[in-house]
Amino acid sequence: MRAVVDFSLSEEQVRHVAWVREFMDSHVRPVVAELDKISDPDERFPWGIIEKAHGEGLMRFGLPEAYGGTPVDEVTLCLLMEEFGAADIGVGGIIAQYWNCVALIDRMGNDFHRDTFIRPYLDNPRAIYALAMTEPTAGTDAQLPYDAPDGGPMLEAVPDGDEIVLNGVKTYSSYSNVADVIIVFARTDKSVGLTQGMTAFIVTKDTPGFSVARTFDLMGHRLAPIAELHFDDCRIPKENQLTPWNGGFAEMSRFTVGRYWVGARCLGVARAAFDLALEYAKTRVQGGKPIIEHQMVARQLGEMAMTIEAARNTIWKAAWAAEHPEQADPIVLRMARVLGSEAAMKVALDAVRIHGGPGTFTDVGVEKLFRDAATGLHPAPLDVQLMIMGQVLAGNRQGPVAPLNVAS
Ligand SMILES: Cc1cc2nc3c(=O)[nH]c(=O)nc-3n(C[C@H](O)[C@H](O)[C@H](O)COP(=O)(O)OP(=O)(O)OC[C@H]3O[C@@H](n4cnc5c(N)ncnc54)[C@H](O)[C@@H]3O)c2cc1C
Repeated sequence: MRAVVDFSLSEEQVRHVAWVREFMDSHVRPVVAELDKISDPDERFPWGIIEKAHGEGLMRFGLPEAYGGTPVDEVTLCLLMEEFGAADIGVGGIIAQYWNCVALIDRMGNDFHRDTFIRPYLDNPRAIYALAMTEPTAGTDAQLPYDAPDGGPMLEAVPDGDEIVLNGVKTYSSYSNVADVIIVFARTDKSVGLTQGMTAFIVTKDTPGFSVARTFDLMGHRLAPIAELHFDDCRIPKENQLTPWNGGFAEMSRFTVGRYWVGARCLGVARAAFDLALEYAKTRVQGGKPIIEHQMVARQLGEMAMTIEAARNTIWKAAWAAEHPEQADPIVLRMARVLGSEAAMKVALDAVRIHGGPGTFTDVGVEKLFRDAATGLHPAPLDVQLMIMGQVLAGNRQGPVAPLNVAS
């Protein structure tokens, strides 16, 4: 008889998780605390880890099979995202964005794009990809979307002979300060809203007229910088047009992979905070016994475990939903993103509480997880996800129900 729901992991999934955990134990956990403390965000980028991830095949693992990736299901990818988040959510974001951007170029683009912007970078141990949608005046507006001519991204793309000329500013684009290849969403018709008037292009870092204006110093996710990019008469070959003209929003909605990946990485943050809190509660003695034997602390830990489990179940369901769009309600993908981030915030805060004073010390670990959890409320603010769920329930949703991915 066919099992309707089966939560057991396959041998293959267990093997993949063990491999990633081993990578994180060997190359990430020993160094992240020190890297996190580097004050200059441009100096902080974890090149050593990324080079090892390229060298050991982790960067390639989640790519489409045509580029040497390992074909795995979405649940497996979510399991790996959780492992990333439990080690360092910033490092995990860099790897996930690499997988996401290559998949987007592969799905949205043609053979020229694949041969020019994917294949030459596969063996480059420092290859980094980024996606630039947000602008100083277009944050949430690009996501809800606010679909009026005066709303959304305003960076302009104008054809000029065999070239496209880009002018404008992008901001908060993850890893774009070090990226080789950037997917840039530009306005190609300002007489209509962004769903009808936006096109995606590919810009490489050496293009004249392109510059990184500023790298932001983040509270959490500190190994994964976000940057402001300037495009001043930035000329790209017209072949770099990635989506149909004015079809950027529709294509992005059609080909995006899971925004709930962010939720899965946040779940890893929650798990790491819980593990530290549980260990501390078993060993810290107050009132003549380990604090876990005090009912209030035991109750707190029980609630933390329940919060993690509820988020994990929804994330796994979202992973299944992503592969069964005809049977699933896509709203669950947004729920998974929200629940993962909220679990991280709640559990990390409780972990700080359970640690007492040391919970606030920078060398104990939960303080970093708390900062990472808070930063995990972005990108795509949770309120926006909830508002979109409300729009769906009200039956007046414009734009995709499933996530539009900005930073996987
Ligand atoms: C760590 C991090 C990584 C990021 N990575 C990327 C990336 O790789 N690429 C990229 O393009 N962008 C990226 N972003 C940008 C991110 O997508 C934006 O921060 C997000 O879209 C919100 O925009 P904003 O910050 O301008 O906030 P705003 O849009 O100014 O929102 C401010 C507040 O107002 C609320 N609000 C806004 N509009 C409405 C409304 N209509 N109704 C009710 N409430 C509203 C919001 O919920 C929020 O609480 C990243 C951001 C962060 C923090």
